[in-house]
Amino acid sequence: MGPPGAGKGTQAERIAGDCKIPHIATGDIFRAAIKAGTELGRQAKSYLDTGSLVPDAVTIGIVRERLQEPDCATGFLLDGFPRTIPQAEALEQLLGELGMKLDLVLNIKVAPAVLLERLTGRRVCRQCGTTYHMVFNRPKQEGVCDCCGGELYQRSDDTAETVSDRLRVYADQTVPLLDFYQQRGLLQEVDGELGIDEVWASMSGLLRSLSR
Ligand code: ADP
Ligand code: ADP
Ligand code: ZN
Repeated sequence: MGPPGAGKGTQAERIAGDCKIPHIATGDIFRAAIKAGTELGRQAKSYLDTGSLVPDAVTIGIVRERLQEPDCATGFLLDGFPRTIPQAEALEQLLGELGMKLDLVLNIKVAPAVLLERLTGRRVCRQCGTTYHMVFNRPKQEGVCDCCGGELYQRSDDTAETVSDRLRVYADQTVPLLDFYQQRGLLQEVDGELGIDEVWASMSGLLRSLSR
């Protein structure tokens, strides 16, 4: 968990690689559906464009299907889900049905003032989805992905106007989830204002203490 631009996707890639589990990002699923022009993409587009949340029923349905794919049987990492209390309640119920449970909820803390620069400087590979930053995490060659040579682009919701709406939505609808997971004893927080490697070091420490 963490506000838009906190570094969820960046750290999620490392965790998924390290723990050898799938990285399930609802935002990525919606963007792929919009690009592919599917019915889901048609439903989701106006919400992503304005920085508001896709309705819970749609989002929960997507996650319900995804968690039943065979690659989730030995674990998974959710990124950007849940984002509302009803989503968290639905997840709890779904995991109960599937005989699974959450081990840990990681919250990446970053002050609002830092997030605008994080988000407006973000660039993403069109081909493989790797995330870069114009200042903090530059590709070797400008505009080109280090991993696959794909073209880097700026997400259409990473503009100053949409970012302020997304931060408001986060404060109103997602912040209450921190209490929800704190009450369940699952929440751990990391300082997301450190560099990418330092944040990863504290996260991997928490993951290691979990597996002991
Ligand atoms: P960020 O990581 O920058 O916060 P995401 O890629 O997670 O952005 O999300 C982009 C957009 O996708 C959100 O603004 C929202 O419209 C939609 N979205 C992603 N996850 C959810 C969710 N769990 N519930 C509702 N909408 C979501
Ligand atoms: P989220 O998924 O939470 O929206 P991202 O992982 O996409 O966030 O990171 C947002 C932007 O900030 C990206 O451009 C990324 O390269 C950059 N970034 C991520 N973590 C850090 C960090 N610890 N310090 C500086 N920049 C970071
Ligand atoms: Zn790439």
